[in-house]
Formats: sequence, C-alpha cells, structure tokens
Amino acid sequence: MNKVADTKPAKLLFPEQAQAPAQNEPFANSKNIEITPEFSGFHQHNDMFSRGFWDKGFANRITMRFFRSFVKPKERMRDEEGFGQEDFAVRNGPWVVTEMFAEMKKHDDRREGFTDDFSPHIPPKVEPMDMGSPAKATKRVKKVAKLYGADLVGITAYDPRWTYRSKFSARKIASKPVEIPAEVTNVIVLGKSMRHDVVRMSPTATAATSSAAGYAEDAITLLALAQYIRSLGYIAIANQNDTNLAIPYAIQAGLGEYGRNGLCITREYGPRVRFGRILTNMPLDHDKPIAFGVEKTCEICRRCANNCPPQAIDHGPPSTYTFNRSNTRGIKKWTTDGEKCFKFWVSRGSDCANCIRTCPYNKEFDKLWSKVLRFLLSTRLRKLALHLDDKTRMHDQIKPSSWWASEKGPFTVLERAKDHALMPDLKGQQDRIKAIRDAKRAKAEAEAGAAD
Ligand code: SF4
Ligand code: SF4
Repeated sequence: MNKVADTKPAKLLFPEQAQAPAQNEPFANSKNIEITPEFSGFHQHNDMFSRGFWDKGFANRITMRFFRSFVKPKERMRDEEGFGQEDFAVRNGPWVVTEMFAEMKKHDDRREGFTDDFSPHIPPKVEPMDMGSPAKATKRVKKVAKLYGADLVGITAYDPRWTYRSKFSARKIASKPVEIPAEVTNVIVLGKSMRHDVVRMSPTATAATSSAAGYAEDAITLLALAQYIRSLGYIAIANQNDTNLAIPYAIQAGLGEYGRNGLCITREYGPRVRFGRILTNMPLDHDKPIAFGVEKTCEICRRCANNCPPQAIDHGPPSTYTFNRSNTRGIKKWTTDGEKCFKFWVSRGSDCANCIRTCPYNKEFDKLWSKVLRFLLSTRLRKLALHLDDKTRMHDQIKPSSWWASEKGPFTVLERAKDHALMPDLKGQQDRIKAIRDAKRAKAEAEAGAAD
C-alpha cells in the first residue's frame, strides 16, 4: 500500500485549491471509460519490465539478451532492415542519459526514472515564495516547462488512484512502499513529442530511437523544472516510469483523449508523446479534460489493433476484461495484452511503436491535410476521413535504409500497413483466445474453491 508520510500539511498560500478526485468520480468526462467499484491500484512488480526480472514466464535468457542489447549493440544485431549495428547504435545513444540516472543510486536500491523518482541534487532550503495567485503561478510554471523543453504542459489534481500501491526493487526482487508527502496536491504533466519520421520505421531498432530520445529529453526537462519549483520553496517530485500511471494523469490534465491503443492521443502530436509528471504542493490552476472526437473515432477504427504484430490490442468495445496481471483491474476501457506486446519486443530485440505509427492522429499537424483530417475526424464525416486517410498511405512502414540515405525523404516503403476497418478474422481469432483463457481461469477458480 502507499505509505503516505505522516507529516503535518505545510502552510499553503492559497488553500482554496481543488481537491483530489474521489474513488468513484467519473474519469475525465469520458463516456467510454468507467472506474468501477472493483477498481484496485497497480503494483509496479506487475508491469512487464519488472516481470522480466522475477516472473518465471519472462525472466529468461532471451529477455536478458533484450535488456543487454541496450548497452551492447551487437547483442541482437542481424542481417535485417533496421537491425544492423548502426541501427542499434543510434537507438542506444540517448539511453545512456536515462541509464546513468538509473545507475546513480543503485547502491541505495533506487533505479531513478524507472522504479524511483528522481532525487533532488542539493535541495534548496527556502520558504515558499508568494507567487501572486494560482493563475500567475500556473502561467510561470507552463512558461518555464516549455523553456526547458516540454512540448505540452497540463496540470491536474493529485489523484491517489493512479499512485502505485507498491514500487518494485529489481535488486532485491521485492516490493517497496511508495511514499508521497501528505502536502502534495497537484500534478504537472509534461509531454515530449517523438520524431514522426523515426516512429514511421517501427518496428525496428532504428525506430526505437524515438522513445530513447524522448526518455532522455524528458528526464532533463523534469529535473530542471523540479529544481525550479524547489528553488521557489515548494515540493517537486519528478516521475518518469515510476510511482504513478502517466496516461490517466495526461488525460485528466487536458492533454488528450484515451485511445484504443491504450495511449493518450493529443491534438498536437496524436499518440506520439511521452509523459513525465511532477508532484507538487505549489498552488496551481487545473486544466480541464478535452474531447476532439478520438473516442468516437476509435469505435470505428482498428488501425492500431490490425497492425499490432502479436495482436495485443483489443478489437472489441471498451470492457473491464483483463488479459493478465499486467492490466489494472476494475476499469472499463480498451485494454492491451502487455504480455503479448512484451514478448514481441523481446523476440525482435527492440521496442515497437506500430500502435503509434499507424494511428490516423499520428501526423505532423503543421501540414494542411493533417489539420483538415483532424477536423473531419471530429465530425460525422469521420468514416469518410478514415477512408481518405487510408489512401494517403502515411501509416505504411518506412524502410530504415532509405531513412539513413535521405535527409527529408521521400522514403521507400518497407511494409504496407493494414487499413482502418474491422478485420473479422483477426477479431474472431482474438475472441477465441479470450474464450480459452476465460475457461482456464474459471476452471482454476472452481478448483481453488473446491479445495477450500
Ligand atoms: S507496441 Fe507494438 S506490440 Fe505493443 S501493443 Fe503496440 S503495436 Fe502491439
Ligand atoms: S489507430 Fe484508430 S483505433 Fe487505434 S487509437 Fe488510433 S484512432 Fe483509435
């Protein structure tokens, strides 16, 4: 369980700020997503990266080679487009930043940025500065966040539903408590976009450079903004993959809508964004959740599900169905099978972003067609918009060798992507696998009941 520090709340300059959402409060005004009474928070040892260290089904030689390949470029290199030594080298370059932070306090059983928040470097000891008003403080924080490299900034209330119930210690293969100071009231969510041309090479090691660079840039922006806030006398706890779930916070902070691919789809970059968070007690105004038609588009679009190589994305409507222990329980939503996704990454030797690449919202929105498409996708003409977008072939995979050879393209296509319409054969196959899994679960539960 979260261990909330038993300290007295600090004197706040603006005590009238909004309260954290209650357990049964509707999620971001969504019609598709519902937090049910069965909801229970997430333990970090259940995420797939943690399971790669302790779960017998995943902690094996192939997973270790996958992890090693992030520092040893020849570990998984082969004679295949996008998996040569140079492809792994360009992917591994930015990981050095994140790895250095993760390694720095490993002797204290901390992997900062992965399982633990970034600890402050020389915390400034100053009294909270009077920022004028929450509105003024909000403007300042957003301005400085952008100055330090954030592409998007949103602010919402601290919501204990998204805090991990426990953290994971890879060193001890055990759970650790999460400690959040009782004074924390707000969460600043920072979005960092990834390069469109690079994501379009997914699933290759070359394409995975997009997430590697996103992590590295995100870490630097988070650290800088956290230190700025501390220097004004307020708490600032910077989170990357640790401590809490990024996607619900990004949606509550008004940065985008939830999509079938399980990601936050932003207006500005579609799903091509990484999200960091800063927990703070600085009084700030909250942004409101936004809607620009994504949920309705996802009801008739299956691009991400059709193009997911291991078929990990649900082709059906939102439900409380969970594939395995890596899913959060008790939320009605579109859910992804993390085990299948991770196994695919491990088998290929690099991460995949097909569910980002093929999404119709994955566009460069400075182009006129992209803006027109986004508008049409918010109207009743969204089906026509999807058909037209299928024709542009912007969801096809770019050949990495053509990307290396050209500054700005045009690039050669390596593999043609599937279009947006429901593919009954893929859905049928997924439904059959779910039925087999459900039957096994029911049998196991019945046997456990009989044993009692
Ligand atoms: S990252 Fe790739 S494997 Fe994982 S869910 Fe997305 S498309 Fe599927
Ligand atoms: S690919 Fe289609 S279904 Fe998937 S998230 Fe994007 S819009 Fe939604």
